[in-house]
Amino acid sequence: MKRQQVSPFSEENEIITHFADVIVPVPVPNLYTYRVPEKMEGSLKVGARVIVQFGQKKVLTAVVAKIHNHPPQAYQAKYILELLDEIPLITQKQIELFQWMAQYYMCHVGEVLNVALPSGLKISSESKIQLNPQGDWEGAALTEREMLVLGLLQEKESLSYQEISQELDIKNVYQLIKSLVTKELILVFEEVKEKYQPKVVKKIRLQRPYLDKPILEKLLKDLEKKPKQSDIVLSYLRHVPVFRDWTLNEMGIEKSFFTKNKNLSNSSLKTLMAGQILEEFEVIVSRFEEFEPEKHAQVQLSKLQQLAFNQIMDNFERNNIVLLHGVTGSGKTEIYIELIQKVLQSGSQVLFLLPEIALTTQIVARLKKFFGSSMGIYHSKFSDNERVEVWQGVVSGKYNFVVGVRSSIFLPFDNLGLLIVDEEHENSYKQHDPAPRYHARDMAAVIAKQQHCKVLLGSATPSIESFYHAQSGRYGLVRLTERYGNAQLPQIELADIRAERKAKTLKSHFTSKLLNAMHAALQKGEQVILFQNRRGYAPYISCRDCAWVSKCQNCDVSLTYHLHTHQLVCHYCGYQQETPKKCPACGSTRLETVGHGTEKLEDELKLLFPEASIQRMDLDTTRQKNAYQKIIQDFEEHKIDILIGTQMISKGLDFDNVSLVGIFDIDRMIHFPDFRSIERAFQIMTQVSGRAGRKDKVGKVIIQTNKTDQAVLGKVIQNDYLGIYEQEIEEREQFMYPPFNRIIRLIIKHPQQYITNQAADELAKNLREKLGWERILGPEAPVISRVRNLYLKNILVKIERQNINLSAVKNFIQEQIEEITTQKDYRKIRIVVDVDAV
Ligand code: ADP
Ligand code: ZN
Ligand code: ZN
Repeated sequence: MKRQQVSPFSEENEIITHFADVIVPVPVPNLYTYRVPEKMEGSLKVGARVIVQFGQKKVLTAVVAKIHNHPPQAYQAKYILELLDEIPLITQKQIELFQWMAQYYMCHVGEVLNVALPSGLKISSESKIQLNPQGDWEGAALTEREMLVLGLLQEKESLSYQEISQELDIKNVYQLIKSLVTKELILVFEEVKEKYQPKVVKKIRLQRPYLDKPILEKLLKDLEKKPKQSDIVLSYLRHVPVFRDWTLNEMGIEKSFFTKNKNLSNSSLKTLMAGQILEEFEVIVSRFEEFEPEKHAQVQLSKLQQLAFNQIMDNFERNNIVLLHGVTGSGKTEIYIELIQKVLQSGSQVLFLLPEIALTTQIVARLKKFFGSSMGIYHSKFSDNERVEVWQGVVSGKYNFVVGVRSSIFLPFDNLGLLIVDEEHENSYKQHDPAPRYHARDMAAVIAKQQHCKVLLGSATPSIESFYHAQSGRYGLVRLTERYGNAQLPQIELADIRAERKAKTLKSHFTSKLLNAMHAALQKGEQVILFQNRRGYAPYISCRDCAWVSKCQNCDVSLTYHLHTHQLVCHYCGYQQETPKKCPACGSTRLETVGHGTEKLEDELKLLFPEASIQRMDLDTTRQKNAYQKIIQDFEEHKIDILIGTQMISKGLDFDNVSLVGIFDIDRMIHFPDFRSIERAFQIMTQVSGRAGRKDKVGKVIIQTNKTDQAVLGKVIQNDYLGIYEQEIEEREQFMYPPFNRIIRLIIKHPQQYITNQAADELAKNLREKLGWERILGPEAPVISRVRNLYLKNILVKIERQNINLSAVKNFIQEQIEEITTQKDYRKIRIVVDVDAV
């Protein structure tokens, strides 16, 4: 569609031509301006999705950010091609939020949009071809294949590249198409289609005339001679008694009711439809099961919980953010439920964030009892169509309450009253890739400010940052120091690996102390959880003769041996190879596995406890959609005696028959070179321990260690969160780490080591010139210094929280990055910016 460019203020009829600034889902810095076609005037609104052409070939879904009447200066604006939403699916507040995020996390707003929208709301554009009506077949020299394509097009009107490739059974059709385009015989165009497909169900009902009783009776009489057709009509009437109430016919019954019934004839059904007696129609249904809340579901808070609840409400009078520090099993969830009900009753929306889906299974089941299917669930293991339904449900008001993982902060709420961040210390709230590298807990605070809502952070082991803010009065603080009911916190003991090795009581990786406790628990019919934060069988294999070690060819890490697949696997890039039978270096057959992952422990357990039923829960056993749920359910139903797993098993799971928890390999976590390693080790030990002994059983936890006098172990045993906090906060202050300042991590990547080093040195030097020595750390090689064939160097920028212009500093960093990446020698350099890196 071509139009003449008219001046925005056409004098004759005073029609104003509007322009729209849109966010295109690609990494470019600016919004892009398009002209609003006349037919969209009035119906185009901020937040609506539109289809635009971007660049020469791309057709994209964009979102309208602003409507105005200033034509762009640098280019001639194209028309918006199509308007997708009469009612915008994205709110004005969200657009502001996306822009804020791009600024804060130093990325492009298009990248934010790309992560924010479920892909079902984006448009897929695929190229199609059709015959050129002006094409001259006769004169052209054509290959056999070209003839075939033209023949197909005569039959089918238009074809996608993929369809041609399938029809002709050839892989690469681009050359073929290019040649036909050059010969001007075909045209290429973009067909755009929406990806989201509503779920439709086919139904059957009687045609209207037969709702009249005499007519229907006559029909039944006529059909007496046709028993097969009669069967169908009679069985319809049994399920939809239109004699009694003719309005029931409207909803009909599902077509599959007939087609799946072996006693009913499919062809007779067709005859009845062809004879205009029955008709088929379609209805759009929800992908989510309808689920009524339980009638009398009500929380009865204990005295302590009620006290905490009241304190939270009190604190909300003064603070927008409150931290609920409650020990494991104190019943934080019950307090959340009470709060959610209260906020929903007042007419506001509630968002409940959980760190990972492993957790959602149990909590969602508990919440469903109270909220039924009026509660939306949003997480990454849902299909895209399901996610679109939740998104639309928030817009339409169907879902005023959503439970979800970090990406649910992008849902289009416009009237949030409460945002709960459960297990707020969890790392998985931080997005690592792609940009925006946001932290959902921190975003909760930003959203709260924007929507004037309250935030409740909950944890048994709060992050040092959040606890600091609570101590200093920025957040309210409420503490719950006892478990619900008479449940006691578990008794935690250490098992000394070194001493047992000396005494020769160590069996492979198991101390006799742990083994004895396991036997005792199993004998009493109780369950055991073992924690080992390393999947696979063994972290590497090695040659006993020449000390060769299995290494990834793309990364600077060893390859993990996986027993079940008999493969060596890189946990960083996914590279896999067969396990060699002989040492690739010296040829010796004396290869051995070193160290132990979850698979190896599982394997050894089978020998040590042949009678017990053992299950492993890690990334490898939970790849399928409902795998977590199945394992957790089996464990709840005591089909499993020993559950062994990675950090997945540490989070919020609540089982009432677990009397023993064993912890392996914690020394490695304690000594990991990172300023957060002690905090992390404390959190994970406390959280895993929290799975032991609920209700009326005192649980036991055994931590295996090579060094029993480490301070953090003592703190875990005494459940001394404050002790750990005080120790850590002092260090943070001394070395100027968060919360005393902010950290921006720059990761420099290049396939050649010396270029990575050179560019990193240069960038660090340039940053120091203006920001000074103290604010810049590095460049330093990270623990894994090569990943996917790229050499890495890190630079940390530390920025004070006060008395500094943060956005000016960020702009300066951005300039310096561009300065480096635009140099000719550094073209292939990639620099990742991670604001508030964790
Ligand atoms: P947390 O999340 O603080 O670790 P949970 O909310 O999982 O603790 O509660 C621990 C257990 O105690 C759960 O089984 C929960 O159902 C039970 N519980 C806690 N408070 C109550 C209550 N007020 N009424 C009934 N059961 C409760
Ligand atoms: Zn060797
Ligand atoms: Zn690798």
